[in-house]
Amino acid sequence: MKKRVYAFSEGDGKNKRLLGGKGANLCEMTQIGLNVPPGFVITTEACLEYLADKKLPAGLMDEVREHMARLERATGKRFGDPANPLLVSVRSGSALSMPGMMDTILNLGLNHDTLQGLIRQTGNERFGHDAYRRFIQLFGKVALGVPDELFDAEFEAIKHQAGVAADIGLSAVHLADIGERFLAVVRRHTGKPFPEDVYEQLEIAIRAVFDSWMGKRAVDYRREFHITPDQANGTAVNVVTMVFGNMGDDSATGVGFTRNPGTGENEMFGEYLVNAQGEDVVAGIRTPKPVHEMATEMPALYAQLVELRDKLEAHYHEVQDFEYTIEKGVLYCLQTRNGKMNAQAMVRTSVEMCREGLITRDQALLRVNPAHLEQLLHPCLDTSHNPTPLAQGLPASPGAASGRCVFDADQAELLGRAGEKVILVREETKPEDIHGFFAAQGILTSRGGKTSHAAVVARGMGKACVAGAEGIRVDSRARLATVGEVTLHEGDIITIDGSTGRVYLGAIPTIAPTFSEHLRTLLSWADEAAHLKVKANADTPEAAKEAREFGAVGIGLCRTERMFNASDRLPVVVEMILAPDVEERKAALDKLLPMQRCDFQAIFTLMAPYPVTVRLLDPPIHEFLPDEHSLADEIDALRQFRRVAKGRAAALSALGQAVETDGVGEDAVAAVIARKERLLAKVRELHEINPMLGHRGVRLGITFPEIYEMQIRAVLEAAAECVEAGVAAAPEIMVPQVVDGAELERVRAMVDRLRQEIEASHGVRLDFKFGSMVETVRACVSADGLARTAEFFSFGTNDLTQATWSFSREDAENKFLPQYIGSGILEDNPFEVLDVVGVGAMMRMAVEKGRSVRPDLEIGICGEHGGHPGSIRFCDGIGLSYVSCSAPRVPVARLAAAHAALLNGG
Ligand code: PEP
Ligand code: MG
Repeated sequence: MKKRVYAFSEGDGKNKRLLGGKGANLCEMTQIGLNVPPGFVITTEACLEYLADKKLPAGLMDEVREHMARLERATGKRFGDPANPLLVSVRSGSALSMPGMMDTILNLGLNHDTLQGLIRQTGNERFGHDAYRRFIQLFGKVALGVPDELFDAEFEAIKHQAGVAADIGLSAVHLADIGERFLAVVRRHTGKPFPEDVYEQLEIAIRAVFDSWMGKRAVDYRREFHITPDQANGTAVNVVTMVFGNMGDDSATGVGFTRNPGTGENEMFGEYLVNAQGEDVVAGIRTPKPVHEMATEMPALYAQLVELRDKLEAHYHEVQDFEYTIEKGVLYCLQTRNGKMNAQAMVRTSVEMCREGLITRDQALLRVNPAHLEQLLHPCLDTSHNPTPLAQGLPASPGAASGRCVFDADQAELLGRAGEKVILVREETKPEDIHGFFAAQGILTSRGGKTSHAAVVARGMGKACVAGAEGIRVDSRARLATVGEVTLHEGDIITIDGSTGRVYLGAIPTIAPTFSEHLRTLLSWADEAAHLKVKANADTPEAAKEAREFGAVGIGLCRTERMFNASDRLPVVVEMILAPDVEERKAALDKLLPMQRCDFQAIFTLMAPYPVTVRLLDPPIHEFLPDEHSLADEIDALRQFRRVAKGRAAALSALGQAVETDGVGEDAVAAVIARKERLLAKVRELHEINPMLGHRGVRLGITFPEIYEMQIRAVLEAAAECVEAGVAAAPEIMVPQVVDGAELERVRAMVDRLRQEIEASHGVRLDFKFGSMVETVRACVSADGLARTAEFFSFGTNDLTQATWSFSREDAENKFLPQYIGSGILEDNPFEVLDVVGVGAMMRMAVEKGRSVRPDLEIGICGEHGGHPGSIRFCDGIGLSYVSCSAPRVPVARLAAAHAALLNGG
């Protein structure tokens, strides 16, 4: 018969698919000799069978009973025994960690009779009633669908009656009363009494955990984090003997990280509560103490905890996030999993664990998700003008964020979708708030510690979080919060700093982050491991400087048209376009020449000795001219002004009065109108039906050769000046929108002529490369022809995607792509994630054809995909030489290039 249940002592600790991450770890921990409470795992396969058939697989409960009997033997207690009851927790756990997304039930096995046994066992009546009421609520909520609020209302009523603020102040009598009220809540809500039979409880709980795999929270989470059935399919159920941290002052519960998950520092990090259960910490109901205080409060136990931490890291070679309970002086490890950390901590721990010999360099690189690095490149608060904080909480997840206060997750989602920046402000958060997290810039809670739900989830998402800001009183029903005299209404802007725990009124400016020594080290390792070089797309000296700081080894795309758009240049560009003949056009171009030369010279110098690829003019020239309709409106307005002015002048002279011109002479207005009319005529003349496929790129360079001549001259003269100044400039000239080798030959002839002239006039030798954009379908198909002239190719995958798909990007993204993606026709936006099937096939063909003619052809990519980790891996796989992306993405791309090399091999 198929085995569906494994004891912790027999399950394969590596088989997370079958046993779930938590279950596999409990097996592994048990088998490496850690003190884990006895238990067993029901497999994820059993969950899938249950979900498919809508009933528990035949024989499953028999197997469960056998394993319960084993637990009874191991603990000396019996399930359902009023004299000496065994209690268990029933916990979910899938192959990938999904914190808080599925359900867990604690204290299962309690009923009226066993409660008395528990009280007798422990001699602690208060503890017994406390455990019972917790069980009824959790079981009621998770397994029977009773809303939490019904229990909370009863609980608050008793607290109010007893005149206590915290649950710790409640006596055994109060807790017993709460238990009875909770039973009544269940009876009222479900129409049935609470199940007293412990095996019935166990069976219902197992079903509920299985069902939680398809619960909304879990489904949303998997969709958001792209968790596919290949990665995790179904949840396992872990049935674990309960141990209690609330058995008195020699009992405690805590959660810990083997290293600091906020900074990565090699110090044990975590929090604990004496005489409490684990859920108190996770739910943020009581604010726990930092773990280092245990060193003085419970020194012997602290020493055991340090030993546990060392064993965990030595075994897992990874930072662990673990939960433990101390029951009457005995430390139990309840679970461990790889710690979720922010990017800063991931980078630091990678570098340090490698230096400590715990992991290899390759492992250190692969541990860090490239996209995650972007967090480190985000700004932090500029507090130079000393803003006064409104409140202080715990620094729970670093980073700074400003936004409008919202007091519930639905509102956060609503406003977030509408493009508003929001901060989710809650007393504490619960797993069902997850959609609010996705939408918010940051999270602020007034209760809970650094391991509360809000803190853990925000850190995982890399969002700023301030937790436990106790000075803030949140009233989510009234949609406001008060801090002393100040009232925050929904929509008010606040800023939170998750690195310091401070909260400010209004939006505080931010400053750019700096590279840590650890990040520099990791990226230097990445550069050694990678095949692909990483360059940047940059077209100003400032962007070039930034690119260099981020570690770009060249500029892969300098779009010269952006230089034309500068406010001091645009009028000259317009003059060039309006020129009635070649001579006047050349005169305008002569004014542009020194400006472009100066830009190039600055960029070449900043990047030396790395190459700078200058792309000749690409867009259709009408893009530099005003819009036809606004121009026509302006002309109308001017004509009207002229008519009114004329009428006024006629009237005044009829009255024999002098005519004042208001400083605007008749002639001046007429001249402006005439100029605008010429411009309008030109705009109409240049109008194209489909400009993206029209007169642009190299077509423009061939029909108006003086434009490309000016640009090529500017590049080569700038290069000559660099040579004269002893700067090792490495310019490259790139031609856009090419469809045929003959186009390249024309431009190359121009380049050769100008090179001879400039070399002669400057008396220097110029060293540069000449290459082609590959961004049209025909360029890919005739890449062998291009490679006869081009010394390098650069894939323009923005245009190539449009061309391959016959989608115009703006129309697609604004109109139908969201629906295509939402309804599952497409998995990703092909303008963000390289389409390997279509565009990828075109690229592969171009690489093969190009290198068949010129084996050492350098080939890169400068479309937006050059900064996307998955696309970078594809580029590595087809043998590209470099990727080029926007400067802030360069670190991401450097690490992604290393991942690509390590994962693709070769
Ligand atoms: C491209 O088409 O991918 C490209 C880099 O050019 P642009 O985005 O300027 O059209
Ligand atoms: Mg392009």
